[in-house]
Amino acid sequence: MLSSNQNETDQIDVTVIGGGLAGMAASIHLSRAGLRVLCIEADVADTDPVGESLDWSAPDLLKALGLTMEYLMDQGIATYKRHVVLKLRDGSEQHYIPGEWLGKPPFNIDLRTLHVDRSQLNQAIRRIFLASGVTLIAGKVVHVETTGKAVDGVVTANGERITSRWFLDASGSAASLFPRTFKSPVYEYGPHKVAMWDYFTVPESIEGTTLHADGAGPSYMEWVWQIPIHPNTISVGYVSPGESVKEKRQRGMSVQEIFLAQLERFPDFRGLLQGTNSPRTTSFRCRVFAKIAGPNWLVAGEAAAMVDPMTSNGVTAALRQGAESAALIIRYRKHSRISRLAGAMYSQRVLSLARFFNSAIENVLYDWPIRNRIGAFNAGDMYTIPAWSLNVVYSRMRPRGFVSTTLFRLLVGSLRSCISLFHWVCSRSRLSSTISATS
Ligand SMILES: Cc1cc2nc3c(=O)[nH]c(=O)nc-3n(C[C@H](O)[C@H](O)[C@H](O)COP(=O)(O)OP(=O)(O)OC[C@H]3O[C@@H](n4cnc5c(N)ncnc54)[C@H](O)[C@@H]3O)c2cc1C
Repeated sequence: MLSSNQNETDQIDVTVIGGGLAGMAASIHLSRAGLRVLCIEADVADTDPVGESLDWSAPDLLKALGLTMEYLMDQGIATYKRHVVLKLRDGSEQHYIPGEWLGKPPFNIDLRTLHVDRSQLNQAIRRIFLASGVTLIAGKVVHVETTGKAVDGVVTANGERITSRWFLDASGSAASLFPRTFKSPVYEYGPHKVAMWDYFTVPESIEGTTLHADGAGPSYMEWVWQIPIHPNTISVGYVSPGESVKEKRQRGMSVQEIFLAQLERFPDFRGLLQGTNSPRTTSFRCRVFAKIAGPNWLVAGEAAAMVDPMTSNGVTAALRQGAESAALIIRYRKHSRISRLAGAMYSQRVLSLARFFNSAIENVLYDWPIRNRIGAFNAGDMYTIPAWSLNVVYSRMRPRGFVSTTLFRLLVGSLRSCISLFHWVCSRSRLSSTISATS
């Protein structure tokens, strides 16, 4: 149920912009702590949500909202994910399975995670969100009013002005309202990319998230995901640099033709394609904003950091940042502002993890030097082992204060530097072998 009752908006403590995963998760935590929350959402119909393959840290974050793995399975919203498969066009494949040791003390990680039907998951969270007392209004925030570094209010496209003591920007990667308003420095990774995807009915679903790619060659890697979201339904999506899609469009190909032509290249998809509609599409650029906290505002989810879909980390990041940003507002609710240190530590945690995931996936898999030097399957190991371990360490360590956040940042920064150095070495050796071959 939507409400735009002015009396209600006068009585609110926190304004949340965006009712995607990060905004809903934060709103639920804030509302449960007794804060009066108003969430403004531009697309209440939730058109074409995407992000179906979850990282191993996501189930605990969903459980904290009231959605256990068992419930999601029973309701047909999810299927189990036990591993990831990298499949090359020549038919060879490698399976990436979390080590048994992760399931034992002191880690005690559930070695299963989930694939989800994102529309159904969003609806299930929306029900909890509305039941927790959050007021949801339909509207698009078009202006942010500020005084110095603080947010005073936001204005929607239909002229409604909303004020509150605290603000949370969860407006997603296309908007990133507060980082843009406050001109936050930004780190960008890789080219602009386009994703096109559709759901297909299959006689029997596959196990695991499968990534299909060429694997070798000097070019920037394109890939296709295959994710079982129901026993007889798979999500199939193609991610490509925007320039490559643009060039094909200029040659007269429709989006549907580009999608089908790419799927036709992989044996698993032939025969699947009859009757395919025009796929859903989105474009994005992976990037991370450096400043996502102010005196009375925070940013969560993709509005703060857009992490490449190949990392399967976006849902975890949105739910985690939703919880952490809510915890900060709850902690400082009786103060005049969020402490500078606590805000800076929150920014640093989001920044360091998102920089790691984006730079590692670009250096190790998308770009050619490491992939060509050690092979696509070893490159997959080189990415997944530190990436999965970092999420586990984060979930167990729960860095919050200065010391734990700094230790965590040092760990993440060292791993990122090692990968960047290896990328540099591989690109130099490839360069020198090319020069000596041509001279
Ligand atoms: C192609 C693709 C594939 C992906 N695959 C995966 C995956 O397999 N696994 C995974 O974990 N993650 C994946 N992700 C990432 C994951 O889907 C996102 O990280 C996650 O959904 C982000 O949630 P969010 O709440 O931050 O943003 P969003 O879900 O984008 O929510 C932002 C909300 O804000 C609203 N909004 C925007 N502007 C305004 C405004 N001005 N005023 C009011 N409301 C506004 C929007 O309508 C939207 O509902 C994928 C992403 C992409 C692009």
